[in-house]
Amino acid sequence: MISPRAEEAHRRKAVFLDRDGTVTEPRHYPSRPGDLVLQPGIGPPLRALQHAGWALVVVTNQSGVARGFLTITDLEAMHERLGALLAAHRVRLDGLYACPHHPDGTMPDYRQPCSCRKPAPGMLHQATRDLELDLARSWTVGDSPCDIAAGRAAGTRTVLVTTRPHGGDRPDGHCTTTAEALHTVLHSHP
Ligand SMILES: [Mg+2]
Ligand SMILES: [Zn+2]
Repeated sequence: MISPRAEEAHRRKAVFLDRDGTVTEPRHYPSRPGDLVLQPGIGPPLRALQHAGWALVVVTNQSGVARGFLTITDLEAMHERLGALLAAHRVRLDGLYACPHHPDGTMPDYRQPCSCRKPAPGMLHQATRDLELDLARSWTVGDSPCDIAAGRAAGTRTVLVTTRPHGGDRPDGHCTTTAEALHTVLHSHP
């Protein structure tokens, strides 16, 4: 029998990463594998985080599926491509969660309100169950206020990546590049 304390101790800390504009360069509704280009300089800090025991988990809103801009099959092909791009830097994602929904979508299967579309924390909670993560020691990195809101709602610390002056989302950290944000997480205190 494992005591609750021991069970807590084996939970991993994670970095929840937004995809578009954070791991990859911003594009308007990217829909093909070739649309995904890694942000500069993120390979080394992602690898360092991985080696330091962090779980790397991408959490991405993909309402383009609900809007009919791409299919789930397209999305899977893109994520295979993303895996290959990261593998070239010897980085392996521990999880990748995508929300295909939107309440105003045109595709009946995905036109719905849901608990996974950020700013809701549903994808972070699902990853926490699947991967046994410790949210209080985890971070969320994203380029949108909805990423920060989801990360905060889940109880993680947050870094906003943006070159614009920021508004009321109050992240724990604020960086102008994803690479810089990853270094912030890497050197954070537990
Ligand atoms: Mg984004
Ligand atoms: Zn959803």
